[in-house]
Amino acid sequence: MPLTVHQFPCLSDNYAFLVRDEATGKTACIDTPESGAILRELDSLGWDLDLILNTHWHPDHAGGNADIKAITGATIVGPHEVTRISHLDREVAGGDTVQLGETTFQVIESGGHTLGHIAYFDAADRIAFVGDTLFALGCGRLFEGTPEQMWDSLQRLAALPDETTVYCAHEYTASNARFALSVDASAALKARADEVFAARERGEWTVPTTIGLEKATNPFLRAPALAERVGASGEPDARAFAAVRAAKDVFKG
Ligand code: ZN
Ligand code: FE
Repeated sequence: MPLTVHQFPCLSDNYAFLVRDEATGKTACIDTPESGAILRELDSLGWDLDLILNTHWHPDHAGGNADIKAITGATIVGPHEVTRISHLDREVAGGDTVQLGETTFQVIESGGHTLGHIAYFDAADRIAFVGDTLFALGCGRLFEGTPEQMWDSLQRLAALPDETTVYCAHEYTASNARFALSVDASAALKARADEVFAARERGEWTVPTTIGLEKATNPFLRAPALAERVGASGEPDARAFAAVRAAKDVFKG
């Protein structure tokens, strides 16, 4: 039985995700950007929350944990770093699994944006929740980790099946597209950027994306092919990635 994903916007540009294992009705919340909005959404869906799954410690991902647990009694699962701002009922790390009814989430280590960042992958449904690691046409800023760590994390995500649906935690795609066009002249990127700009004009979301689409057009995953454009030709892949990331950090578009 499938996993149903209910996505909605929170704060200025976050997405929140309520997911339900249809076989059992067990429900989880992926990160807690805004407790009020999440509790209202649970109410209107008539879903009872069983689990909170955190990707990393940032307040726009774990800041609603306490309020939501107080109301719902949900079990909070996440990487150790979340204890900086919240209680955790269970600490998980790469290689662990988390059960939601009949749905199994594999925990994938995805440090770089923060040191302990993790992603959750439901292999049966080919659905991944990647927090602030991989974005549509982008990747998370390196607040805590090294480019090498983030490159390794992105490679673990890129190794998932191409058809995997990827739920990113922010709507950053239009500005990511403007940067991508500055380092990549490929026809595939141009076509996608046009679609993204048009979708945003219409007020539509560009999340979720897929692993296949990101491998074809995301300048961070394509860093080795763009090495010359960013002054890193002949360097290891992680250095090319570092150069693309550094270019994005100073891009004014
Ligand atoms: Zn973050
Ligand atoms: Fe975030």
